Amino acid sequence: MNTRIDTDRDTDCVIVGGGPAGLMLGLLLARRGLDVTVVEKHADFLRDFRGDTIHPSTQELLGELGLLDEFLARPHADMSRVTLSWHGTELTLADFSRLPTTRKVMTFMPQWDFLDLLADAAGRHPGFRLLRSTRIDQVIRDEGRVVGVTGTRPEGAVELRTRLVVDASGRDSELRAAAGLRPTGVAAAMDVLWFRLPKRAEETYPFVQAGAGMIITIDRGDFFQIAHVIPSGSWTGSDADVMRMRERLLRISPRLGAAAADVTSADVHLLRVRLERLRRWYVDGLLCIGDSAHAMSPAGGVGINLAIQDAVATARILGPVLQRGTPRPVDLRRVQRRRTWPMLVTQAVQRLMQKPLLTTSSPGAPLPRPLQMLRDHRALTRITGRFVGLGAQPERL
Ligand SMILES: Cc1cc2nc3c(=O)[nH]c(=O)nc-3n(C[C@H](O)[C@H](O)[C@H](O)COP(=O)(O)OP(=O)(O)OC[C@H]3O[C@@H](n4cnc5c(N)ncnc54)[C@H](O)[C@@H]3O)c2cc1C
Repeated sequence: MNTRIDTDRDTDCVIVGGGPAGLMLGLLLARRGLDVTVVEKHADFLRDFRGDTIHPSTQELLGELGLLDEFLARPHADMSRVTLSWHGTELTLADFSRLPTTRKVMTFMPQWDFLDLLADAAGRHPGFRLLRSTRIDQVIRDEGRVVGVTGTRPEGAVELRTRLVVDASGRDSELRAAAGLRPTGVAAAMDVLWFRLPKRAEETYPFVQAGAGMIITIDRGDFFQIAHVIPSGSWTGSDADVMRMRERLLRISPRLGAAAADVTSADVHLLRVRLERLRRWYVDGLLCIGDSAHAMSPAGGVGINLAIQDAVATARILGPVLQRGTPRPVDLRRVQRRRTWPMLVTQAVQRLMQKPLLTTSSPGAPLPRPLQMLRDHRALTRITGRFVGLGAQPERL
């Protein structure tokens, strides 16, 4: 039997997924005085496999929300330029120093800290509620319209009724499938191997090391989080794969390769990259945003920004509608229309980046053409900085 949670309080909006898109939307709707429930299947936000990049445009939003000081009080590291070491030659991929934003830096913050910040800020509004350890997998329909969701939590089954369901449960969304929405895929040529390396005091690595494959190193204070990009489908976790990985790491970065000599397949997580999108982001009563509407690749580190910008556009378009009544499909379509082209442009650029990310060459070989252009024309690095730092279509509150 289902347990109705707070039967006396059916919410204005149920948001499934407490990632960047879901929590930002929850915060923005709660600020408008709406009753919002965000449902997250995990008990906490402590997961490794999430991007750590908080873009200048997202920091601008935090400023508008009065949360910038709180954000900067959490552990973080700033980067004013994204640099690449290509067989030891340093060059700039993206320069944020001329952005029209208060903070002209990309900030690295473990995503659990960032999500905690959003959840804390949202929790200060009386209409906000976060249900953790609650997995939603079905929609409730009434005469064809989605009017709620059902799922499970440790205490038993749960049912939530609402005027609008927003699915922000990411690229593997079960709810999207339950609503009858199926993404179409665009080939992703790469996967990512993800593992930790211990860090000695004062030890550093370039952020991106490439030339004979690619390694991204995120400094998490007391350890390094390593992302190693490989051709898609090339990892089975066998001993031979681990050997090949160690050889590649040694070629790309002898020092990091040596530090990874003891890494075993049990230490390595394979993150499959997908580039997908829904043709239609909504059905009557339910809207998908963030990775649920368009799964992003890690290329360029822009998926979180896009998810946040979806949330901002959704709150701006649907907030007033929810304050007046029940959103209709035409209202949901306005959100999709607003956010489709930035998503299409971003996915197209991510597709173009796949080849350079996987390129291997011997030391001394000429730089690939796009990298030569970035090296020779500094102005281009400001354009890439704008694209990464602000996104194709920045959103304001
Ligand atoms: C390997 C890899 C690295 C990446 N690195 C970066 C990066 O550095 N920078 C960047 O900007 N982007 C990066 N991305 C892309 C980025 O992670 C996504 O675009 C972004 O997280 C999307 O945010 P979201 O809120 O839409 O979804 P998600 O972040 O996926 O959040 C979805 C939330 O929903 C919850 N959930 C799922 N199912 C249910 C359910 N049934 N019921 C309740 N809750 C549920 C999940 O637990 C999760 O908390 C990377 C992607 C990959 C694959």
